[in-house]
Formats: sequence, structure tokens, C-alpha cells
Amino acid sequence: MNTVSLLFHDVYATDPRESGFASDAADRYKLSATELDAQLRGLATVRGDQHPFLITVDDGGVSYYTMLADRLEALGWRGHCFVSTDVIGSRGFLDAGQIRELDARGHVIGSHSASHPSRFSACSVDRMRQEWAQSRQVLEDLLGHEVIAASVPGGYYSKTVAHTALDAGLRTLFTSEPVTATHDEQGCSVLGRFTIRRGDAPDAARRLVLPACSARWVAWARWNAKGLVKPVLGSTYVRAADVVHGWSTQRNAPCAASTQAHHD
Ligand SMILES: [Zn+2]
Repeated sequence: MNTVSLLFHDVYATDPRESGFASDAADRYKLSATELDAQLRGLATVRGDQHPFLITVDDGGVSYYTMLADRLEALGWRGHCFVSTDVIGSRGFLDAGQIRELDARGHVIGSHSASHPSRFSACSVDRMRQEWAQSRQVLEDLLGHEVIAASVPGGYYSKTVAHTALDAGLRTLFTSEPVTATHDEQGCSVLGRFTIRRGDAPDAARRLVLPACSARWVAWARWNAKGLVKPVLGSTYVRAADVVHGWSTQRNAPCAASTQAHHD
């Protein structure tokens, strides 16, 4: 039974710029409170013991504290909160006290790099190592305990991204590739995620975690159809092409695939 990891970003009451990074690109991922409530209502109908899922949230926007945490806890849930540490305490982002409190309330705090490079997989190896090591150190100093989870900024994943995360002591790495399979990259567990975006159907999250995985197929096809699969990822490209052009490779369905690539 595979766990489905969902990826959310910021949530807002009236203006997307209330929380997180302020750009048109970032805004496309932000949900209004009404949209979030609809997604959570759908998820609440799913039996988590039969269809396990994780809620992960990227960027460290303040809305994790102001909008999301209470809603998750009201359902008896906790989320994974991935923080870009350079912006801790900046306008629209979590501050140190809020991060500490979320950790104490049972949410998993992880790294989302230090500076959120726009194309993480294009960074030098040294820069990647520094981004991971620095952000992990900041979080560990802040929380007073070990931090081992991280998510890749922008979803730009490569094996080197995982290797450098591992070098920095991180052992669980979430990408943005819409797959449920986990794969081990020399000791670092790499997990895909399914993104919930502004304008998605109100029951998108529910359909993504249910076992009839047609919604996950659509997410997989949509993601690969963007043409963003790197030539260097030969096997991934073949699989993506099969999926998009023929839906023929059931064995590589997003319910079971193990690949690497990146996304926007
Ligand atoms: Zn991000």
C-alpha cells in the first residue's frame, strides 16, 4: 500500500500575497481558504488507515501557522512544513517562534533549502551542499533536535540533489514528481508528490489519494506533457512518452513508478 503525498503551498484569506513568495508563478499554487476547506473536506472522507496520505506544504509561508495548522489539527492530522530558511521571519513567512510552536504541536519541520534557488538542479554541487547544510543547521539550532526531511525547491530534482542532501545529513527528500513510489538514492529516501493548485476541482485531493488512481494518471500525464523531462533522464523520458502517447505501460503507472525528473 503506497502512501500518497500531497503538495500544498500557501493559503490566503483575501490576497495571495499575504503569505509566501510574491510572484505570479507562486500565486498559481496558492489556495483561498475556501478552496483549502473544500480539499480538506474531501480528504476527511477518506479512511487514512486504508488509503494513507501525507500533507506536505512548501516554502514556509506564514499561512501554515495562521490558516493551515488549526485546520489540520481539527481533523486530527499533522503536516510536513518545508521551510526556506533565509526567509524565516520575513514578511509573509513563518518566524522562529511559529516554527518552534508548530514543531511542538507535532508538525514535521523540514528544509526547503536556504535561499530557494530558482533552478536547484542547475546549481553547482558545492552550492547544493551549502543550501542543504545551512538550512538544516538553522532549523536544528532553532528546534534543538535533528532535522532529516527536506523538499526540493521548485521540484527541480536530480540524483545529485539527493546525494548532496544526504551529504548534509538529510535522509528523506520530497520531489514534485507525481508518483507514489519511494526510491532509495544511496541511503536517501526520495518520494514524489501530487500538487494541489489554484483552480483544481474541489475534490482533487480526495481523488488523488483514493486507490482508483486515474486522477494520479492524469497528474502524471499533465506533468510530463509539459515537456520538462530532461534528456539526461533517459528511462524517465521513455516512460513519460509511453504514458502520454499510449497509456500503455501499466507497470509504470504513477501508482508504482520510480523515476526521477523535475517540474516547474
Ligand atoms: Zn518552493
